[in-house]
Amino acid sequence: MSQSFSSRLVAWQHAHGRHDLPWQGADAYRVWLSEIMLQQTQVATVIPYYQRFVASFPDVAALAAASEEQVLAHWSGLGYYARGRNLHKAARLIDERHAGQFPSDYDDILALPGIGRSTAAAICALAYHQHRAILDGNVKRVLARYCGIRGWTGDKQIEAQLWQRAEELLPVHEVAVYIQAQMDMGATLCTRSKPKCEQCPVHEDCVAFQTQHVQALPTPRPRKAVPERHATFLLLMSGRDILLEKRPAQGIWGGAMELAAVR
Ligand code: SF4
Repeated sequence: MSQSFSSRLVAWQHAHGRHDLPWQGADAYRVWLSEIMLQQTQVATVIPYYQRFVASFPDVAALAAASEEQVLAHWSGLGYYARGRNLHKAARLIDERHAGQFPSDYDDILALPGIGRSTAAAICALAYHQHRAILDGNVKRVLARYCGIRGWTGDKQIEAQLWQRAEELLPVHEVAVYIQAQMDMGATLCTRSKPKCEQCPVHEDCVAFQTQHVQALPTPRPRKAVPERHATFLLLMSGRDILLEKRPAQGIWGGAMELAAVR
């Protein structure tokens, strides 16, 4: 293969990637906001939320000055509300620690609430063009298939292998375009089901495609063994009445009625 993985992705991105997302080419604050909103949420759903959010909170200072209720009202319907709360907490910390300027140092970004290794790297690469690899859910799927890495990608050892491959494949130039290409490829070509391998710029040396293991990779999360519990219940009757008791509010079937258990 004459061209590297990254150069094929970069060329594909220029020709076929997404170029009109509202946070593309934006400052670090907006890139951060988009990255947080895009966790567990599709682009089409995120766009109107993102636009309303930046209209009300155009910068870190505006977000830090808002109340939590105002921030969560803008998050209402997006789900995973811890993301909105962490965003607000982080804005206040940026105000305190960095005088309202979104930091450009990877460790400073990683130290903010709600930001993990891949999100910090994505902000560094997309907003500051720093040489950082990412490994979000889409990239894990692409690399597990392209490199033929078996095992559940949430497993620490498998994740470490994927990080290593992500770093090895990172190009020296055009890192931001490459990172966007990985995201776009994962979202539009190398999708979970029915990936469009024929149109993929790396299908000639994709291990999963060449060995016909695309459907088997990435390896699904192992099923947990169903726990077995043994319990004894009393069927206490008086005429047609049966004695029931209420389960504790916490735990399985919290607050439900059941036969009297022998504890
Ligand atoms: S060839 Fe198919 S499985 Fe391999 S990276 Fe491309 S889209 Fe994904």
